Amino acid sequence: VRAKGEPGSVGGFGEDRLVSTIARLLSGPRPGVLLGPGDDAALVSLGDRTGVLTTDVLVEGVDFERSSVAPRDLGYKALVVNVSDVAAMGGSPRYAVVGLGLPPDVEVGWVVEVVAGLREAADEHAMSVVGGDLSRAGEVVVSVTVTGEVAPNRAVTRAGARPGDRVVVTGTLGAAAGGLALSGAPSRDAVGTAWGRHLLRALFRPEARVGEGQTLAQAGATAMIDVSDGLAVDLSRLCAASGVGAVLRTADVPLDPALLEMAEAVPGTDPLALALGGGEDFELIATLPAGAVAGAAGRLRERFGTPLAEIGRIVPGAGLVGVGADGVERPLEPRGWDHFGG
Ligand SMILES: [Mg+2]
Repeated sequence: VRAKGEPGSVGGFGEDRLVSTIARLLSGPRPGVLLGPGDDAALVSLGDRTGVLTTDVLVEGVDFERSSVAPRDLGYKALVVNVSDVAAMGGSPRYAVVGLGLPPDVEVGWVVEVVAGLREAADEHAMSVVGGDLSRAGEVVVSVTVTGEVAPNRAVTRAGARPGDRVVVTGTLGAAAGGLALSGAPSRDAVGTAWGRHLLRALFRPEARVGEGQTLAQAGATAMIDVSDGLAVDLSRLCAASGVGAVLRTADVPLDPALLEMAEAVPGTDPLALALGGGEDFELIATLPAGAVAGAAGRLRERFGTPLAEIGRIVPGAGLVGVGADGVERPLEPRGWDHFGG
């Protein structure tokens, strides 16, 4: 839903602007706060340990349609998206609390399945869901808050990228956006194919890169962010937080192979556009000193079987530039998902 907003409404303001306005209102030193609003997660001092805090809200009709998502998948994803934000700090998730807003017509069995999905994701990450709250709502709202831990002074924020650092990304990109395109126009042909099922699974059952985030932190990552709203927009956010620009080699962006099969079967499919602009891949973008890339890639492959692609470099200045196979540099618009479409 990308409604044009009235002046003075959040719709006309835009999500990033609203987030920075809120962050300013909450800014200033507070006891025990190591990192306040504006990153993937907050960092707080817990005695001799560092706590990680993050939250995410999924709203029916905006983030999902009740008719097109299995409730178990919804619960699973609601937890995993938070785990991914903890991963993007180099942390380990520990506990979750869950708020549910429910229209009165929702069946109890549907809610039970949502909770089963939350539980399944929590079990996969050795986490516990320890509480929450229920309320009546006009549409289904699933709000999950996750806490985690990171070794003191080892958290990786968005703000440390330096000119000369290399830009890397885990895994492959665009699969969730491909799945979203398929789920929007359900095609029996696509769902019957291995590539179609793979793309839909990427959409409904994302994986958070927790071990990979910790490994990248150990390898000397200077900045990190997860891909929630699209490579171009999330890399732009990392660059803005670090006060740098980036040159992205578009030919090196790792496309999910299933997108290439989708492009053959579904006219108008642009795998690179899906990888750059589609969100919800929950891969990690990191910046590393040039000399650290090969070692980090080797460790990710060895420990998790996860590929690490070098896709560009950090430069002085601001903004993103894309370089295609022709070697020509073009400004890359940070287009991605904006909840308010401003
Ligand atoms: Mg994030």
